[in-house]
Amino acid sequence: MKQNRIALFPGSFDPFTVGHESIVRRALPLFDKIIIGIGENNSKTNLLNVAKRLDLISKVFKDETKIEICTYKGLTVDFCLEKGCNYILRGLRTSADFEFERAIGQTNKLLNSNIETVFLLTLPEHTFISSGIVRDVLKNNGPVEKFLPTGITKKDLI
Ligand code: ADP
Repeated sequence: MKQNRIALFPGSFDPFTVGHESIVRRALPLFDKIIIGIGENNSKTNLLNVAKRLDLISKVFKDETKIEICTYKGLTVDFCLEKGCNYILRGLRTSADFEFERAIGQTNKLLNSNIETVFLLTLPEHTFISSGIVRDVLKNNGPVEKFLPTGITKKDLI
């Protein structure tokens, strides 16, 4: 029997941007299911709590039956096992991303050799977008909607 292809797309998503959305939508035809996993990482300063992030991402994908959104703590590979994910999906924007992702991807491979990390290159127009940039624009009362998926507004972030 063919094994289902289930990918975990892990991240902080604080907040979820058009860059994240684009990676998920482009990866959808490649997988039977994508689980968006919001990592609860205490060392980061948060804009939104995880419940709010889950709520906003659920809104973006409310009509997508192949997408599930979860929060998780602990090792990403452990969460993959818990949810039956055999792939980890990540986006690559720059060479800095590559170096960062290489270390994480190779570590995860050592921790669980059955899980493959798959990378999609960002679209050129999303290369400069990050959650950090959105938080900065928001802090200075800028027009953050440009960076957010359709239907998510500045009010959702404050
Ligand atoms: P983390 O805190 O793990 O870096 P992020 O929420 O910042 O999580 O990002 C999750 C994933 O989405 C990472 O693989 C990251 O490279 C990717 N990503 C973030 N922003 C973009 C973007 N603008 N275009 C494509 N991929 C992106």
